[in-house]
Amino acid sequence: MKENEIRPQELFNELLRLNRLDIDKYFHNANTKSIFCPACESQGVHTFNKNEFGFDECPKCKTLYVSPRPYREYFDAYYTDSESTKFWATTFYKATEKNRREMLWKPKAQMILDKINTFSPNTQKIVDIGGGYGIFIEEFLKISSLRHLVVEPSEYLSQVCREKGLDVLMKFLEDIQINELSDATKTFVSFELFEHLHDPKEFLDTLHKLMNKNDVFIFTTLSGMGVDIRTLWDESKPVSPPMHLNFFNPKSIQILLESIGFETLEITTPGKLDIDIMNNSKENLKDRFWKDFLEYSSEEEKNNMQKYLSKNLLSSHMMIVCRKV
Ligand SMILES: [Zn+2]
Repeated sequence: MKENEIRPQELFNELLRLNRLDIDKYFHNANTKSIFCPACESQGVHTFNKNEFGFDECPKCKTLYVSPRPYREYFDAYYTDSESTKFWATTFYKATEKNRREMLWKPKAQMILDKINTFSPNTQKIVDIGGGYGIFIEEFLKISSLRHLVVEPSEYLSQVCREKGLDVLMKFLEDIQINELSDATKTFVSFELFEHLHDPKEFLDTLHKLMNKNDVFIFTTLSGMGVDIRTLWDESKPVSPPMHLNFFNPKSIQILLESIGFETLEITTPGKLDIDIMNNSKENLKDRFWKDFLEYSSEEEKNNMQKYLSKNLLSSHMMIVCRKV
């Protein structure tokens, strides 16, 4: 798989261009608040500005995060009707749907089923938080007979899911009452949501309260220790506020989870794209080792390096399995 197959550079650049216009519209002169490290609550150190947002890095756990952070109301308006959000959900989505289904969602469905079999074989129901167009659950139900629920706050996307015959709860996680979820043993999943959250701790607290003891939560997010993010740093395209605000890493996410009452069962970085992402932005790479590595190495050597990075928790695509204890 190549980055261009799931994230064509032309469309991605257009998304980033619209995003910059939306920043002027929704975040200009926004009220902000400085925050501590969202993982370990240490005082962060300012590292760079991007799109007019400041980024702090935690000196203790290396979490990279937006601070000062605009108040939540600005993000709510941005996600409700900004041009970049619409472009992402329509043009970008449609142009990449087929490739994403085949290259991302099919293998992800199998991976999640394997994790459930390993860590939570008694699961009766899978709950997808922020299920979007429902493609993950569609693919999952092709290989599993578990019961399912999609939690999706957007009216439009909920309707798309219903038309596919999926069970949907049209709500934000924090608005769900515990009696709206059955007593079944559940595995909750969420994909590429965590980096967007205004308050990750509050999200996990809310989820923890909705879970039964021994229920499992599996999620993916960007790791700030991923090699493409570390080497490209402020030039890294996924470092793109206001969309992405939090870049935890395999060690810092564990600190946060355990502070809330989750037991971490497994953290992996199954990403496959880091080297290709670096290659697509190599004019912005400053580090001589990586710059020269990309020029000097064969495809096979690059593949080997990618495998090594994934295996050693150094890819920027991270997957976490944890359990409520
Ligand atoms: Zn920290």
